Amino acid sequence: MSEENQNNNKSEEKEDITEKEDITEKEEEKARFTFKCTQCQHCCQERGPIPITFWDLEMWARNGVVANFMPYLDIYNKPDGGLDLVLKPLPPSPKEGEEAPKKDPFESIPIEDLLTVKCPLYNEENKKCLVYDNRPLSCRVYPLEFDGKNFTIVDVDCPGLGEEGMSKEELKEMRDTAKTMYYELTRMRIALPVLSQMISQKVMMDLMRQNMEAMSKMNDDDRSKLDEIFKKNKDTPEP
Ligand code: SF4
Ligand code: SF4
Repeated sequence: MSEENQNNNKSEEKEDITEKEDITEKEEEKARFTFKCTQCQHCCQERGPIPITFWDLEMWARNGVVANFMPYLDIYNKPDGGLDLVLKPLPPSPKEGEEAPKKDPFESIPIEDLLTVKCPLYNEENKKCLVYDNRPLSCRVYPLEFDGKNFTIVDVDCPGLGEEGMSKEELKEMRDTAKTMYYELTRMRIALPVLSQMISQKVMMDLMRQNMEAMSKMNDDDRSKLDEIFKKNKDTPEP
């Protein structure tokens, strides 16, 4: 092959490589996660149960605000059998003619029926998060999630996705927060069943102790009345 031909081939190869690099860069650019929250607050209006981690509990304790969250904390029995500590959404407001909800914000509405209602800490009138500085980790990382291996998007309709202007540092921070969320949620999911069982046992033991104390203080009259009630219940045939 002549020297001229060799040079031509080399320059064609170089052009080919530059073109491929351009395409790869464009693909990477397209696949790159870019996000800038547009403050549309959609995620606060239809959020469902928000998982709470030890990180959140520690932050609230440090900032002296745990009591503000207590009325909304609940344990969610997940369909897979696991437990999550969650901020449980408020039940929807009663429609016209319907009875007003009782004082307990959770009533007996199953959590599954509250998956698309607003976060209890979102103020609809002012369109504001009432606890923004103390918002849970889950809100800080939304809509990104880390599952131990990969990053995923939990809400592809989030309008902030694809918004330009995210710096490398912000991207790193969001990824690190997603990893912290995964780690903290795992810690909570390991500890919660044990804690929940211990607390239930303690409550049960306390109730039994209170009952025994109350019975030991009964006079003979009350005791015989109670015996009669038990006897009556025993003799009543089951329906
Ligand atoms: S995270 Fe997304 S859905 Fe939530 S307020 Fe920001 S842009 Fe809206
Ligand atoms: S805690 Fe605040 S940021 Fe999080 S979902 Fe509720 S209102 Fe939105």
